[in-house]
Amino acid sequence: MAEAAATATSGKVVIRNIGLMLSGDIDQPILDADTLVVNDGLIVAVGKEKDCDCEGARTVIDARKTCVAPGLIDSHVHPVFGDWTPRQSQLGWIESTLNGGVTTMISAGEVHLPGRPKDIVGLKALAITAQRAFDNFRPAGVKVLAGAPVIEQGMVESDFKELAEAGVGLLGEVGLGSVKAGYEAKQMVGWARKYGIQSTIHTGGPSIPGSGLIDKDVVLEADADVIGHINGGHTSLPEAHVCELCEKSSRAIEIVHNGNERTAIAAARAALELKCPHRVILGTDGPAGSGVQPLGILRMVAMLSSIANIPAELVFCFATGNTARIRQLNCGLIEVGRAADFVFMDRAQHSPAAGLLESVQLGDIPGVGMVMIDGIVRCGRSRNTPPATEIPVVVSGSH
Ligand SMILES: [Zn+2]
Repeated sequence: MAEAAATATSGKVVIRNIGLMLSGDIDQPILDADTLVVNDGLIVAVGKEKDCDCEGARTVIDARKTCVAPGLIDSHVHPVFGDWTPRQSQLGWIESTLNGGVTTMISAGEVHLPGRPKDIVGLKALAITAQRAFDNFRPAGVKVLAGAPVIEQGMVESDFKELAEAGVGLLGEVGLGSVKAGYEAKQMVGWARKYGIQSTIHTGGPSIPGSGLIDKDVVLEADADVIGHINGGHTSLPEAHVCELCEKSSRAIEIVHNGNERTAIAAARAALELKCPHRVILGTDGPAGSGVQPLGILRMVAMLSSIANIPAELVFCFATGNTARIRQLNCGLIEVGRAADFVFMDRAQHSPAAGLLESVQLGDIPGVGMVMIDGIVRCGRSRNTPPATEIPVVVSGSH
């Protein structure tokens, strides 16, 4: 069934009666619109129902005044193969995360593969295999962008050229392999960038026995595209160093669930004070020692909104449009031409808040009522979030 869903096309889909539409665009996070029209997986219209061509839809969804946002993007995961993680011996963790509103995941390295090769030909082969495998198989419909090699000493420029030509577009976290010195990392990050491969650097103390410290000077010298888990994964650099990274680097500020929560708040506040909220992106860093985190992104959104006191509509952009722009993805924003990847949410039942955004600002996790990827319904009422007060219904169509 997952196989069929991955290759099916949505046809025309109309989503009407939307109560709140979050765009994912941090410059205009709320849209004055109540209707979305999708054709074969792409958004073709966003607006008021009277202005949209709603005729002849294969599927019509009544959102019942709930909120529609772009599907959430987890900027930092460690998949291995299929919907299995050896880190916590769990099956179905990606499908479970779909139930937390996540529609796209980005690998920061397939580091948990038992017996992971660390020789250069082996690590290249693994990256290419992981990229191909997740391109061919989407667990529960979730888009997993994988094939992120962990760079090792001895790699030369032609290795990066070869990886790029083979379809590899990401580096695993720099610092997890033998390349830990700033000057070495800088050279390899530069080669990766030259061939269009995006890089992320591990920031902070060792994750698990065997990994190492990457301090602020190494992060600044390496100059990777993403300051990976700036709040540590788990152990954070001193708060002053994290704020210095936000100020001195212009790269993406990635905040993760599997990190130091106090520093997460400091980093988000620093980005706002430096007037660069568009640089903030969210990840879980799961599966990790702290477990599989199906609600990790929603929990980050609620934490940053409630404790760091950032309007919820902006924090949703950290987990959607900001990541899409920084990672050059065709999802994460509600606009014509983008992928029809959506999460439908409402305030959780019995939340004291009046509406969804207020509930998040009070620190409550929203209830997910439906998740759509490429215009196809992948799950209805979430089995993981608290129950949404109201959920959308499919009023006609083939589902
Ligand atoms: Zn890490």
